[in-house]
Formats: sequence, C-alpha cells, structure tokens
Amino acid sequence: MRARLVAGNWKMHGSRAANQVLLDAVVEGVRGVECVVCVPFPYLAQVAEHLRGTQVAWGAQNLSEHASGAHTGEVAAAMLAEFGCRYVLVGHSERRQIYGETDAQAAAKFAAAQGAGIKPIFCVGETLEERDAGRTEAVVSRQLDAVLVKCKFGDAVLAYEPVWAIGTGRTATPEQAQAVHAFLRQRVGAAVRILYGGSVKAQNAAAIFSMPDVDGGLIGGASLVAADFLAICAAARTKG
Ligand code: PEP
Repeated sequence: MRARLVAGNWKMHGSRAANQVLLDAVVEGVRGVECVVCVPFPYLAQVAEHLRGTQVAWGAQNLSEHASGAHTGEVAAAMLAEFGCRYVLVGHSERRQIYGETDAQAAAKFAAAQGAGIKPIFCVGETLEERDAGRTEAVVSRQLDAVLVKCKFGDAVLAYEPVWAIGTGRTATPEQAQAVHAFLRQRVGAAVRILYGGSVKAQNAAAIFSMPDVDGGLIGGASLVAADFLAICAAARTKG
C-alpha cells in the first residue's frame, strides 16, 4: 500500500511573518497523511527550524544539476542536504516553460538530488495543445524517459501536472488524471507514489484522490491558504 503524500508548492510567495502563521496552522492541523512544503530558497532556514520535530517535511523548488563551481545564482543539492532538505521539485512546468529547462537538465537535476539523498518530486505533464493533438502519453513518456535512461526511479515521487491545469482553475477530471496515472504506473511500477497537480482545491481533492493510481497531490495556490491546504490533506487521508 502506497502512503499518501500531499506536497505544497509555495512558488515565489511568502514572507517571514506570513510563513510563520501558515506553518503554525499546518503543523497544528495536519493529521494522518504525509505532508511536505516546498518553499523558496531564502526561507529554507526558517522552515527547517520551524518544522524540526514536527510531522511536516520540507523541500526546495529547484536545484542545480552541478555539484559546485562557477554557477552564479544556483544552489547545489549538497547545500540543500546540509539544511536537512528531504524533497525537491524537479522539472516543474514553470521551470521548463519560463526558464527553458530541458528534459536532459531535469534528468541531471533528478540525478543530483538523488546523489545527495534528497527525494525528487519529478513533474511531467502536457500542454493543452499537446493533449488536443493526442500526444499526452508521448510527452510524459519523453519527460520520464530522460530520467529512466540514467537513473533508477527509486523512492522518488512522480507528479502528473497537466500544464493547462496549473494555476488556471481548470482541473483534469478524476478520470483524465487516472488515465495518465495508470499509464505512468506501468512505467515506474507499483511502489512509486504518483501525485496529481493542477488546480487541486478543497472542493475537488476528494474526487481526484479517490482514483486508484492517484497517491496524493502537488498543490500550488491552495497550499498558501492554511484552511484550504488542510482540507486537501484531510481529503488525502480519507482515501483507502
Ligand atoms: C503547481 O504549482 O505545481 C500547481 C499544481 O499549482 P496550482 O495548484 O496553483 O495549479
């Protein structure tokens, strides 16, 4: 049985004061489901300190594929590991689309994270144009294959995030999510947790999480509102 996981992606949001309030509420309210918050780099120390000894894990949103050296502005896996970072988002569509991250780079980041003992949350997903062209499986396969040719997936987490559903308020139906999760499941095996991400809200979480190959969620906007994030965590808990 795969343990459910709910991961919050704060994106480029937060302040020291707001983080404190949000983290207090999440720590107080989360019950019975694994939960992780992926925060901007400057808040890693605050979050590490705040969450020490709690049931809430934390992670970063990006890392360098390089181990060290002349890479101004980049953050190495070993630096994250020094903070006690346990998870890192890799290949998020905003990295791919806005910053031109390639499949090969995402795969190299995946390997760098694993090498430092940090679990990648590896994101795959198609654009609306690709879906409409019937290319969803080809696209997520291509993104995943870049990793699988060089690494074992191991205890990494996979996240299916249709690009057209991220931050748009438009969610995949539970059936659409399940179809892609089942396809991905064939590739990574029964033990790997596959999260769904893309406009998950308190209102739609339970239906999406009720699908057999959906093992939790990667939550953007709703992870910034404690009550919404906690309601999503509760929906994940009630499954199976
Ligand atoms: C995300 O950023 O990974 C995400 C799923 O965002 P949202 O929940 O806001 O669509």
